Amino acid sequence: MGVSSQISGFGRAGFGTRHYNLKPETFNTYLNSTFNALVFFYFFTMNKLERAAYTAKRLEELYPQPAIPLHHKDPFTLLISVLLSAQCTDVRVNQTTPALFALADNPMDMSRLSVQTIEDIIRPCGLAPSKAKAIAGLSKILLDTHGGRVPSTFEDLEALPGVGHKTASVVMAQAFGFPAFPVDTHIHRLAQRWGLTNGKNVQQTEKDLKRLFPKEAWNRLHLQIIYYGREFCSARGCDGTVCEICRTCYPNRRKPFVNRKA
Ligand code: SF4
Repeated sequence: MGVSSQISGFGRAGFGTRHYNLKPETFNTYLNSTFNALVFFYFFTMNKLERAAYTAKRLEELYPQPAIPLHHKDPFTLLISVLLSAQCTDVRVNQTTPALFALADNPMDMSRLSVQTIEDIIRPCGLAPSKAKAIAGLSKILLDTHGGRVPSTFEDLEALPGVGHKTASVVMAQAFGFPAFPVDTHIHRLAQRWGLTNGKNVQQTEKDLKRLFPKEAWNRLHLQIIYYGREFCSARGCDGTVCEICRTCYPNRRKPFVNRKA
């Protein structure tokens, strides 16, 4: 990659309106003194809002119609699928749920299955004993407390066994269309690499992303970031200097980027 392409980017003077494409000679002239280097890096490095705007634009171009990856037909089957996806891939969940939903695709039928039967079916998803117990338990609560329906508030969802804030956020967003920004370890990792959060923890990352992006974009962005992560950015596969978004947001990044864990 030539120097001129490394320093192509959007400057502070007008994000989205000016595109710098400096020649190597100009770049070297700028870097001839420390002062000039500081000036250069200030003017040719995006700030957080610019990085957010660029990232959203690029993700929209790459994934204009991000589909919900977990197969489901209603809020209940989505809730069960999201619960099963903890520490498991969506592909594996989608391979497993047809057998489970053939026996029980609603709280009434699910609560009639023994925990052992559920556990045997969902074993490929991992953590089967605790997930089976949670599925049986939450199905009973849905019947006893919510008239057999999945509730549409964070409070009620997070009171169900096996349902944490991330699972509740996915259900609120994808089943009920409520603006949410579920942050899993992948989104936590990418948001750090793109300089959208300092990555203190997933709660802080969720707050930071919600502050940076408009509410109506949250649900789509959550899916788009997941798709980008899967296609380009694996957990260990990159040091933050390789692909388009990182290179555009951080044209001066030279050292490997080190993530903070969730
Ligand atoms: S450069 Fe690396 S860390 Fe950055 S988004 Fe691309 S793959 Fe991920």
